Amino acid sequence: MGASTARRAAISALTNFRTVPPRVNFKETPVSSIYASNVFNEEVQRQRLPKTVFKKLQQTIKKGLAIDPAIADSVASAMRDWAIEKGATHYAHLFYPMTGLTAEKHDSFVSPLEDGSGAILEFSGKELVKGEPDASSFPSGGLRATFEARGYTAWDPTSPAFILENPNGTTLVIPTAFVSWTGEALDKKTPLLRSMEALSHQAVRVLKLFGNSEVTKVFTTVGPEQEYFLIDRNFYYARPDLINCGRTLFGAKPPKGQEMEDQYFGTIPERVLACMHETEQELYKLGVPVKTRHNEVAPAQYEIAPIFENSNLAHDHQMLTMEMLRRVAEKYGLACLLHEKPFARVNGSGKHNNWSMSTDTGENLLNPGDTPHENAQFLVFCAAVIRAVDKFATLLRVAIASAGNDHRLGANEAPPAIISIYLGDQLQDIMDQIESGGAKTTKTGGHMEIGVTTLPKLPRDAGDRNRTSPFAFTGNKFEFRAVSSGQSIAGPNTVLNTIVAESLDYIASTLEADLKAGKPFNKAVNDLVASIYKNHKRVIFNGDGYSEEWHKEAAKRGLPNLKTTVDAMPSLVTKESVELFSKYKVLNDKEVHSRHEIFLENYKKTISIEALMMVVMARTMIIPAALKYQHEIATAIHAAKSAGAPAASLGEQEKLLSEVASLISDLQKHTCELDKATHHHVHGDTMAHAKYAHDTLIPLMDSVRAAGDKLETLVDDDIWPLPTYREMLFIK
Ligand code: ADP
Ligand code: MG
Repeated sequence: MGASTARRAAISALTNFRTVPPRVNFKETPVSSIYASNVFNEEVQRQRLPKTVFKKLQQTIKKGLAIDPAIADSVASAMRDWAIEKGATHYAHLFYPMTGLTAEKHDSFVSPLEDGSGAILEFSGKELVKGEPDASSFPSGGLRATFEARGYTAWDPTSPAFILENPNGTTLVIPTAFVSWTGEALDKKTPLLRSMEALSHQAVRVLKLFGNSEVTKVFTTVGPEQEYFLIDRNFYYARPDLINCGRTLFGAKPPKGQEMEDQYFGTIPERVLACMHETEQELYKLGVPVKTRHNEVAPAQYEIAPIFENSNLAHDHQMLTMEMLRRVAEKYGLACLLHEKPFARVNGSGKHNNWSMSTDTGENLLNPGDTPHENAQFLVFCAAVIRAVDKFATLLRVAIASAGNDHRLGANEAPPAIISIYLGDQLQDIMDQIESGGAKTTKTGGHMEIGVTTLPKLPRDAGDRNRTSPFAFTGNKFEFRAVSSGQSIAGPNTVLNTIVAESLDYIASTLEADLKAGKPFNKAVNDLVASIYKNHKRVIFNGDGYSEEWHKEAAKRGLPNLKTTVDAMPSLVTKESVELFSKYKVLNDKEVHSRHEIFLENYKKTISIEALMMVVMARTMIIPAALKYQHEIATAIHAAKSAGAPAASLGEQEKLLSEVASLISDLQKHTCELDKATHHHVHGDTMAHAKYAHDTLIPLMDSVRAAGDKLETLVDDDIWPLPTYREMLFIK
């Protein structure tokens, strides 16, 4: 399909768009009959499970106690009955392999009778608890050879099962962890769960020192804000790069981009809004607490954000959100782009990861709070985060590194690759005072003493916002904003939880020792927070993270600036990193190395697929179109000459002809070079391959693109084979 056909189809899709029923309103359909209606949640469990089974299951979910295998059959049978009432014919174990995507294996409830006389519907505890998908084709980074294909999915009772609807039947979906037969994590959920346990353990230790003995479990909480693009599906299918790579590999800058700043929070186009409505309704049914939606900065860019939940659930719900965005978009003739940078020179998409820690008694540990006692505790937890982010900045950088995010970080639209913390003036001021010790006043006035009993009341909203910081304190949580739109949030949160667990361990151990040595608690806390702040305040930066001065200043402070994935990855396999992950039982040595391997491999593959696609597009789409246009001009000049047009009047046309001809020649030359480079055999390990992609392929791709994009601005629009930015971003 050529560009002009795609354009006509897109225009017709848009102008003929009529809202698709069903339309839900809360007057006719009470929210209670929609929200979480497809979730096997606490309410359903209470109604359908025997009392003792319900109690045991809840203890696992809420208190983190080991699951009692004896209850599995009972839970499975209740789940089956409930699912069949909801139209389910199959059940599926849902898991999150290292592809960063969601995977599912479906099995039917139907079980034929032995004598062949019929069938019954079965679902046993064994089937609920354990599945065995053939795992040989998932990336394992050397954890498992292909001939040892066994992989197991293990029921995660802390993330409720749900019903996924399809016009032809529904499926009972069971979230699971995915492990090899040696028990190594082959997925993203297992390490996340392990990191949550590690943090919980250390946080409870610290809370005990503050005299809090009620708390038995601390959960990390996450509210991920998802940015995405929606474009007409006709454009999408006319762009092989979008279909195969998720981003445009060619595309000239449109005359109008986002410079008018008329998009951000602007009114939402009707078809897009209709699509958002339905996406939200589908997510409500699954109990995903989506809350806000708005137009984002770039044209055709939007955002959806939920209310925060415990990290595990937030992760599963985030994966569902991405899936649902894609699916529902199709129903509206749209395509949802989750890539970090679908359009060059237009803002890319991120996923702000709002993160905090919450006790099982419902207290947010990063809430400055109303009482002095809570403030001291708050400052300790806050200090733990500051220390962790400074000490392990490179690991946070690794957690967000990918070929896609490399286009974004440091590009003056997203935070730089330098990890720093924005504390806000008020909190920074308090930390400064703690460092110099003794009683001080806050910026807002009032007397305070930095001890347990007389700490200041901190304002809930700790100052202004800072969009340029990769890691910002925003009132009662930290917002990790360098996370990318397309990635699973499991990785960044696993790292965050683990490094903060390490800090809390350090804090608990120091305080325990101080108390044992007879130091008064107030003084011990004060000294500790002061020393952490003193040693780690270099990571705090409240200014403009996009500025050149910050890059210089950060270098002076010795903060790492790992610009690309290739620069970042070695940090994952340092001795310090391996020790950290093994100490807190999040990833063992092999698991860490496997991830290093997988990430680099993914990087290299992504770039080589893009390079190959560029070659194909240049050769089979752009060059042929440009040649046609060259022929058109040449023929026109020739015709004009024969018809007697004076030679002097044809000078500009001849210039155009030679410009087009020379661009075609450039494009051919660069395409040949890129083609050759993609076939070059690289010796060495995965890092050598990744480096080759970065150092050799990317610069060649840039040259190919430059020539291609220049041609786009010259070639006859009727002939140009690809939908352009000015259409894709604005016909909506
Ligand atoms: P904004 O960042 O636009 O100011 P909000 O502050 O309302 O928006 O929240 C952004 C996200 O942060 C939401 O998903 C929200 O649920 C989440 N959030 C709020 N409190 C917490 C918390 N304690 N832990 C994790 N996420 C939180
Ligand atoms: Mg935000």
